[in-house]
Amino acid sequence: MTSRQPSIDYQELSKEIKKWGLELGFQAVGISDLDLSEAGDYLNQWVAKQYHADMDYMHKHGSKRYQPDEMIPGTMSIISLRLDYMNLDLTPYEDLLSQAEKGAVSRYALGRDYHKVIRKKLKQLAQKIEAEAGAFGYRVFTDSAPVMEKAIAEKAGLGWIGKHSNLLNSKAGSYFFLGEIYTDLPLPADKKATFHCGSCTACLDACPTAAIVAPFQVDGRRCISYLTIENHGAIPLEFRKAMGNRIYGCDDCQMVCPWNKFTSNTSVSDFYPRNDLDAPDLVTLFAWSEVEFLSKTEGSPIRRIGYLAWLRNIAVALGNAFTGHAEKDEAITQALLGQKAKVSDDMVCEHIDWALSQRTL
Ligand code: SF4
Repeated sequence: MTSRQPSIDYQELSKEIKKWGLELGFQAVGISDLDLSEAGDYLNQWVAKQYHADMDYMHKHGSKRYQPDEMIPGTMSIISLRLDYMNLDLTPYEDLLSQAEKGAVSRYALGRDYHKVIRKKLKQLAQKIEAEAGAFGYRVFTDSAPVMEKAIAEKAGLGWIGKHSNLLNSKAGSYFFLGEIYTDLPLPADKKATFHCGSCTACLDACPTAAIVAPFQVDGRRCISYLTIENHGAIPLEFRKAMGNRIYGCDDCQMVCPWNKFTSNTSVSDFYPRNDLDAPDLVTLFAWSEVEFLSKTEGSPIRRIGYLAWLRNIAVALGNAFTGHAEKDEAITQALLGQKAKVSDDMVCEHIDWALSQRTL
């Protein structure tokens, strides 16, 4: 972090930063102070219950996660920003869940990797601040392991952390990404957002695997987002039926949230779907070779799970897609499952065997 200019009116600068953030396409901008002690206590209790599964990044940074100036010495405030990603013109996610031959991909992952899109915008904002206010120290983040971005956004007034543990906003719902700029500018903090879930429990009731074990307590080991994305091993048998056709992530807790009736269309064309991933045929996706997978997911967040986890997830969905009647294409699907077993490892083969066992009349 660099030394800052002594003559800056930080109240005024804060207003300007919010204006520039909106001009760059963000939907909301707020400022958080550095006191994340409440979020740190919550995190430590959550990890103690093993709810983080094998996501070691949740605790390996220790107190740096909730003490921002320990992670980046000299940090004085954090700029938090929101970027909406939902495209309302697509097949609604809830309709997709009842079309067993289709795959349901979490809506945030349909287009270009949000990390790239948001980091670029955050850097543009930092450069604008530098150009107008002089040199300052900063680091930009989005969905980065050492940063408690939902707690920061809540403190910056962007929304409250709902019972499903996502951030939500009473005018915008929850289909958005967050980004942060850690800065050595002592910007005045905004007011923390207030809580508006009330007595609602829709997300707890709707979770297909009962992963929201209590309000604000998501057991990662049961969560379909974890099982299909972060998890590199087998998907436990007890969750396979409940996965349905969810092949990458799960939006159910957001889908049922009443605040999402206020969702707006994204203004970022990079988030529009690629390769028909908004309503893809399972068989078509499963037929992709590894080369096709790598080429069709280039620049997409899906690429990072790798080809084998991709096959694993789709195999489970194909197991769940069987209607119990002999279909004319059944032989083709079964042959494809058999073919992929030849290019898979033992873990994926076991999922393929499971899928074939589900497709037996
Ligand atoms: S579904 Fe209900 S309880 Fe869950 S986050 Fe939305 S408002 Fe809160």
